[in-house]
Amino acid sequence: MAVTRSEALALDEADPLAERRGAFAPTTNKAIYADGNSLGPPLRAIGPRLARTLAEWSNDLVSGWDRWLDVPFEVGDRLGAACLGASAGQTVVCDSTSVNLLKAIGAAIEATPGRSELVVAAEEFPTDRYLLQSIAAQRGLELIVLDEATQLAAACTERTAVVVASAVNYRSGELLDIRSITESVHAAGAEIVWDLCHAAGAVPLQLDAWGVRLAVGCTYKYLNSGPGAPAFVYVARAHQGRFRQPLWGWFGQRDQFAMGPHYNPADGMRSWLVGTPNIIGIEIVDENVRFIADVGIEAIRAKSEALVAFAQSASEEMLTSLGWTIVTPPTPYRRGGHLAIARHDAEAVCAELIARELVLPDFRAPDVLRLGFSPLPTQFVDVYDAVVAISSLG
Ligand SMILES: *Cc1c(COP(=O)(O)O)cnc(C)c1O
Repeated sequence: MAVTRSEALALDEADPLAERRGAFAPTTNKAIYADGNSLGPPLRAIGPRLARTLAEWSNDLVSGWDRWLDVPFEVGDRLGAACLGASAGQTVVCDSTSVNLLKAIGAAIEATPGRSELVVAAEEFPTDRYLLQSIAAQRGLELIVLDEATQLAAACTERTAVVVASAVNYRSGELLDIRSITESVHAAGAEIVWDLCHAAGAVPLQLDAWGVRLAVGCTYKYLNSGPGAPAFVYVARAHQGRFRQPLWGWFGQRDQFAMGPHYNPADGMRSWLVGTPNIIGIEIVDENVRFIADVGIEAIRAKSEALVAFAQSASEEMLTSLGWTIVTPPTPYRRGGHLAIARHDAEAVCAELIARELVLPDFRAPDVLRLGFSPLPTQFVDVYDAVVAISSLG
C-alpha cells in the first residue's frame, strides 16, 4: 500500500482530536516539529495561567503559602489520575527527575537491607546510570549493567537490591511490559524504580493496578510543561511507611514550622519534598494535566499510536531504500510516542534538516534520528512532510 500525502490529509480529516491543535500556542518556527519527546510545545492557556499566578503572588505575598503548600500534592493527585492510573495521595510534583531518582533509589536500598547489587541496562538514560554509579560508589554496592532491558527480570537474584528501568526507552522508543517486570523483580525480593519520562502523557499507565511501588518522571516531554518543569514521584500507598527517602529537608519535616532540632518525616508523600517547591512551574504542570484529563489519555494514545504507525509506513516506503533502518519495535503496543530511525550519517542529516528549517528532530549518538510526535499538536500531514523532507536529502 503506497503512502500518499492525500492519505495523510484524509487521516487528519478523520482525526477526532484535530480541533485540540488549536489549544497550542502558534509558533514562528518554520520547521516541522518532530522533537515533542524532548520538549513538548506550550498551550495557549499557559500565559493567562501565569498571569493569574502573578496576580496571586503580588496580592497575597507570603500569605500565598497558605494555599501553595498543598499545590504539589493537589497537582500530583490530578497527574496521577489523568496519566498514571494512581489514586490520590501517592504522587507529588517536585524537584527534577534526577533528584527524584536519587530519592527513590535511596529509599529502595534502605528497604532491601543485606542486598548488594543495583541493576540497570546499558541502554538506560544517562542520568539514571550516572546516579546509580554514584550511589553504588558511595554505599559500597555493586552496579550490574545488562546489555538489554529485556534481561532485567531474569537478572534479579537474592543479591539484587534495586533495579532502575525506563518504561519507554529514550532512544529506541521500546515500551517495556511494566506489570510483568515489576512482578518478577518483587518476586525476587528486590525493588524497582520506574522512570516514566518518555511514557507519562503519551502511554496510559496503571501504576496502582500493576503493583508498581516507586516511579518518577518529568513533565516537559509529553506533559508539555516547559523547559525545567518540575518532575513527579509516585510511591504506592501500601509501601509509604517502608520507603524513607534520604534527602532530609525542611519541607519533608512533620512539623515544618516548629523548626525543631531533629528530622522527623511527615506522613505520606509530604516526606518526599526536600526544599521549597517551584510553585510557578507546578502551576504550568497543572494546566497541562487538566488539559490531558479533558482530552483523555486513551484518546491521546490512540492518536499517538496512529502517528507512529504512519511514520513507520512512510519511512518503510521512502527511507529504507535509502539505507535507513527502523530501530523502534514494529508492534504498536511495544512502543511509545516516537519513531527512531538509524543510518551512519544521521547526525549530519539531523543538522541539515535543522539548518534548512525543514524538520526539527533530534539525534542520539551514534546513528539515531528520533522523530518524536507530540500527539495533540501534530498532524498526519506533518509526519508525511517530515519523512519526505528526510528522503529529499538522499
Ligand atoms: C528526559 C529524561 C530524564 C531527565 O532527567 P532531568 O532530571 O529532568 O534532567 C531522566 N530520565 C529519562 C529516562 C529521561 O528521558
